[in-house]
Amino acid sequence: LSRRINLGKGKDEIYTLANTFDRMFDRLENSFETEKQFTSDVSHELRTPIAVIISQCEYALESAESEQELLGALKVIMGQSQKMSRLIAQLLFLSRSDRKTQPLTIEEVNMSALTEVVIEEQKILADKNNITIHQEIEPDLILQADETMIMSMLINLITNAIKYGKQDGYVFVQLRETGNQIEGVIRDNGIGISESDQSKIWTRFYQVDTARTSEKEGGIGLGLAMVKWIIESHKGTISLESALAKGSTFTFSLPKK
Ligand code: ADP
Repeated sequence: LSRRINLGKGKDEIYTLANTFDRMFDRLENSFETEKQFTSDVSHELRTPIAVIISQCEYALESAESEQELLGALKVIMGQSQKMSRLIAQLLFLSRSDRKTQPLTIEEVNMSALTEVVIEEQKILADKNNITIHQEIEPDLILQADETMIMSMLINLITNAIKYGKQDGYVFVQLRETGNQIEGVIRDNGIGISESDQSKIWTRFYQVDTARTSEKEGGIGLGLAMVKWIIESHKGTISLESALAKGSTFTFSLPKK
């Protein structure tokens, strides 16, 4: 079948790709050499999807007996590749922020419109979990900021609220002006975070319950570290109020200029 759809020579390319990734990991490892645990976490998190990709490629090329089976394997490959791509982007971001070489492109950002776009995009994930997103967004709140970063910060917070939210529950997103600041609130009525974990979740790779998180097809505990970096590099603040089994409220404040 693979020959029929001309995947045969893809095999060599897959191995070359895997080797390229391997060399990339070595480079990443060197760039984080001071953090041993971090390095081993990174290697593990990136090598796992590669192993799945390789085994699914082998299956697709050698054992798949129908187009349906082939498509199934391709879907897994696609999902794992996207996961890796997200992880690598997060890692490069953190590596650059460590080295203070992460550039900020400051421009006028319509925070209200941006937040609405992000909410709209997250609705598919919310629907999957039967979660309703309520929003209370003051129109045309303008900020001097790096738009891509602010967007990434919002995506992380809203995705988390949905991932760790309550089935059939809600996520509430509020944006308003307070003096010369823009204040954002992202609240869920989900699983909540214990008091002892509340200070730890901002640390790279920290996850309250790794089994539960990977079950949710989540990230690997880098999201909030990025959120914190983004907020602080815009001279803002972020805080958390949470209670187990009741839910979490993340509140950030960003200066408009
Ligand atoms: P990830 O979601 O990839 O695990 P994050 O850095 O975004 O990583 O979050 C770190 C951890 O904080 C998560 O694993 C989860 O345990 C906890 N967490 C984050 N947001 C929430 C939330 N809204 N409700 C409950 N727990 C949360």
